[in-house]
Parts: sequence; structure tokens; C-alpha cells
Amino acid sequence: MSGKPRACRNCKRIVVGKSCDVCGSTNLSSSFSGLLLILDVEKSRIAKELGIRKSGRYAVKVD
Ligand SMILES: [Zn+2]
Repeated sequence: MSGKPRACRNCKRIVVGKSCDVCGSTNLSSSFSGLLLILDVEKSRIAKELGIRKSGRYAVKVD
């Protein structure tokens, strides 16, 4: 019952469900590429660059 993962078009978070648990957006795309695993937002330079404030999985590119 987990469903297919989709990527939030707003913040690129990989979401399994109807809405993004980070920004609350329901603008999700099933077409995305790349996978970014952010484990520690405080120490991740990529997270800072992308404005990610919560650890988890993110898409590199969302179509
Ligand atoms: Zn989002």
C-alpha cells in the first residue's frame, strides 16, 4: 500500500503519498531522475545549496 514514489515539483522531495511532507505541495511528478540522499542537513553542502531543510530522499531533476 505504499504506492509509487513521486517527486515534489516545489522542493524535489521524494514523496510516497498524496502530498509533500516537507512543503505540503500536492504538485507531484512521477517523472523524475536522479536520487539524492540527504542524511544530515546541517553538514550537507548540497542541502544548503538546494535549500533543503529536512533529511531524506530528493530527486535531482523533476520533469
Ligand atoms: Zn515539497
